[in-house]
Amino acid sequence: MARRKKIYEGKAKILYEGPEPGTLVQYFKDDATAFNAEKRDVIDGKGVLNNRLSEFFMVGLNSIGVPTHFLKRLNMREQLVRQCEIIPLEVIVRNFAAGTMAKRLGIEEGTPLPRPIVEYCYKDDKLGDPLVTEEHIAAFGWASQQDMDDILSLALRVNDFMSGLMYGVGIKLVDFKIEIGRFYDGDFQRLIVADEISPDSCRLWDIETGRKLDKDVFRRDLGNLADAYTEVARRLGVMPQNATPMEKPKLIN
Ligand code: C5P
Repeated sequence: MARRKKIYEGKAKILYEGPEPGTLVQYFKDDATAFNAEKRDVIDGKGVLNNRLSEFFMVGLNSIGVPTHFLKRLNMREQLVRQCEIIPLEVIVRNFAAGTMAKRLGIEEGTPLPRPIVEYCYKDDKLGDPLVTEEHIAAFGWASQQDMDDILSLALRVNDFMSGLMYGVGIKLVDFKIEIGRFYDGDFQRLIVADEISPDSCRLWDIETGRKLDKDVFRRDLGNLADAYTEVARRLGVMPQNATPMEKPKLIN
């Protein structure tokens, strides 16, 4: 079988050259990392769950007119996506205080915010993705003012869509991160939601019990990560009620 050309390997995903120009194959790994990869593990089935969940969210976004890179799912771990130029920003939207913002500002986790707050971090693992302001973004030319207006509008639309979807299945969308790509449609540049949207990149709390159903389960050693993600998938109807995550075959010496 011909080997595929690897374009990029990140902590949780690999990008391969796609079958047609302008496309890529996005492969979801089982690797889990936190604290800039200081903590790492392999969680059986995580890649399969994130592939399905990201597909579900991106298809939903596409259907309400929020453009994303998602084209189609290829198999359990891979999806075909549009190739785009990733803007080097992590766009974070917060509805409740948690994580680094709760710590930075001394606000108790879970405190509702007066309105959704959008933050930007500069994507650079070596620097630990530092928080930056729109001044930095404009001065260093990472995005134009027009891009920033479009990014803000995309981020808030994703927040409205995801919050409603989650609320409907008894889950609070505390915060999430998205990445935005530039995609050229002839002479026109369009900004699209890229990368992934999954419990790896969101904070999801059960409305009734406060149970965490996201990557904090791994970051804070709160239990089985695959169980938490399976619960999200089950509630959204992405996985059949009686499905159990498939284990990887074990090698026998
Ligand atoms: O850690 P922090 O509180 O800043 O994270 C805010 C949100 O962004 C969380 O949902 C977290 O999972 C997500 N995030 C991410 N990738 C990063 C940093 C944060 O998905 N590199």
